[in-house]
Amino acid sequence: MDEAAGTRALVLFSGGQDSTTCLAWALQRYAHVETLGFDYGQRHRVELDCRLTVLQRLRDDFPAWARRLGEDHLLDLSVLGQVSDTALTSDKAIELQASGLPNTFVPGRNLLFFTLAAALAYRRGIGVLVGGMCETDYSGYPDCRNDTLQALQRALSLGLDQPLALETPLMWIDKAGTWRLAQQLGGEALVALVRDDTHTCYLGDHHTRHDWGLGCGDCPACALRAKGYHAFRAAGAG
Ligand code: ZN
Repeated sequence: MDEAAGTRALVLFSGGQDSTTCLAWALQRYAHVETLGFDYGQRHRVELDCRLTVLQRLRDDFPAWARRLGEDHLLDLSVLGQVSDTALTSDKAIELQASGLPNTFVPGRNLLFFTLAAALAYRRGIGVLVGGMCETDYSGYPDCRNDTLQALQRALSLGLDQPLALETPLMWIDKAGTWRLAQQLGGEALVALVRDDTHTCYLGDHHTRHDWGLGCGDCPACALRAKGYHAFRAAGAG
């Protein structure tokens, strides 16, 4: 066991591919792992159901991880829909805005997520927060950047007056790398779990089946997931 064996971690867990892979990463690494999700009126609300399916399958299929998997938390963040008007929370087309950011961007969403997670972690004696933010598949979200999260880690540690680590295992890998990481952590069983039970589609399509999983196949999130899966499989075949 490594130096992190006694550590408790809280994973920001949405039920998507990235956060499911992060959860597996944390379960491999930390002795006790809890999960946190947010209900903010997202159009892809089906991911909230996926969370429970993924957690159950992890418990069923990965006994060593099941022993480490602790409580699941879900916070109501419907206030986010009141302060933002975006393609994730209202029924409008996904497109680039004048600012260059896609209109799926909920301003500062990850700052809120991590701040709430830190408050919960403080209460539960947890010193590590894990999130699936990534700079490599750059989608223009400034609150996913490493610089932002480094600054936030410092602000939260100061504000809570105790050290708090923000871990982002996907920060520097692309989507193909995320599939590969799942394979390294849990073999084909975890790849199958991620493919079949996680949700990525921005439009909330969770019934159209593809070789890379379920989704509309056309939105930016589906396109990225499909491209990464095919690159991962192509590399694996070589
Ligand atoms: Zn889609």
